[in-house]
Amino acid sequence: MRIVIKIGTSTLAYPTGHLHIRRTEELCRTVSDLKNAGHEIILVSSGAIGMGVGKLGLKSRPADIPTKQAAAAVGQCELMYTYDKLFGEYNHTVAQILLTGDDFHHADRLQNFTNTIGRLLEMGALPIINENDSIATEEIKVGDNDTLSAYVAVNTGADLLVLLSDIDGLYTADPHADQNASLIESVHGITEDIRALAGGEGSSLGTGGMRTKLRAAEICNEKGCDMVIANGADPSVLYAITNGDRAVCTRFYAEREG
Ligand code: GLU
Repeated sequence: MRIVIKIGTSTLAYPTGHLHIRRTEELCRTVSDLKNAGHEIILVSSGAIGMGVGKLGLKSRPADIPTKQAAAAVGQCELMYTYDKLFGEYNHTVAQILLTGDDFHHADRLQNFTNTIGRLLEMGALPIINENDSIATEEIKVGDNDTLSAYVAVNTGADLLVLLSDIDGLYTADPHADQNASLIESVHGITEDIRALAGGEGSSLGTGGMRTKLRAAEICNEKGCDMVIANGADPSVLYAITNGDRAVCTRFYAEREG
């Protein structure tokens, strides 16, 4: 299977911006193992700005754009250094690709991107993608890595996109506020009812990023690619997901013909 796995900042780093070492190690070990089992994997990793904040010793995430972009430049190095070191332990070679939204709208750039990905996978390398936050401006950026990873999945012919988040999946209500909220295991089509579960702007579910995740599911499902939301707190959930076994997650099924 060709699988795109998106890793959110909350999976990789503590709120301090420093690396969550145990979890990141588990994640890199699991992804290495899945590659050894024969899966083709592409990572989309957030965390550049968050890790830049930690590395530069900033008190909080900067609000102004130049400082955010500077933090991303520092944090992206830290992120790739960490991946290179951890995947290197299992003899996997990482490759960095930084994209902006614009790249998906220029046929030649998109072609270069897919050519590069194709060749990297042929050579057994592990592409690790992020948005090029240090140069992306409002006009050209995708803006969030849920959407970016969906674009990557559909343009690289992936079978599956897995969004590793800080929540188990899509719930019937906000699980932080409603103890009767239950996890929805399968979604066949993003209906208005499903969309309503993402919450309005500013609700705790909405700020959890469920809106961008549902949009990512739509982008993928439309092009025949399944999408899963799972909790990155336990990276071994990836084994069950890729084996098609029952896992704690929400799976959005692409419509299949016939
Ligand atoms: N590209 C951003 C970063 O590396 C993250 C964007 C996102 O998490 O959606 O910090």
